[in-house]
Parts: sequence; C-alpha cells; structure tokens
Amino acid sequence: MSEKKKYKIVYVKNECIGAFACIAAEPGTWKESVEGDKADLIEGVNEGDEVYVKEVDELDNNMEAAQSCPVNCIHIIDQETGKKII
Ligand code: SF4
Repeated sequence: MSEKKKYKIVYVKNECIGAFACIAAEPGTWKESVEGDKADLIEGVNEGDEVYVKEVDELDNNMEAAQSCPVNCIHIIDQETGKKII
C-alpha cells in the first residue's frame, strides 16, 4: 500500500463561481475548466458529488489559493493530524 501524502486538497467544484483567484495564486495546481466557468483541480480525483481531491507532500501556493477563494470551496487537510487547515 502506498504511503499517504502529507496533505489532501479538497475542492468542492459545485460551489466554485469561477473567480480564478486560485489559478492566479497557484497555476501549477489549478486551471480553467474546458467550459471556462469553473476551476479544475489538475490531476484531482473525483470522489463524487463534484468533490475532487488531490494528495500532495508540498502545498506550494495552495494555502494562498484556498485563502483567496471568495466562496471558500478549497480546503486543505493535514493528513498527519487529520486536521482541516482551511
Ligand atoms: S478561487 Fe474559488 S471560486 Fe474562484 S475559481 Fe478558484 S475555486 Fe473557483
């Protein structure tokens, strides 16, 4: 079984209003969806109900991305403590 990565990014896509602050903050993780109305979590895994997750060891600028999201639909879980950071 593969080791869990340090953090889990959780993106609730149906709450996204397409402000693209996340892409401005962290373009390596976020991109415009094909439809252009929402963001996509690059290499995110669909967990159903428009919730996408991605495990990472480095947050890069994803704290800034989550903080800058006007509808707070980007969350980050510390997988070592199980705590939600944002
Ligand atoms: S900042 Fe939030 S609302 Fe804006 S595109 Fe990113 S996820 Fe969607």
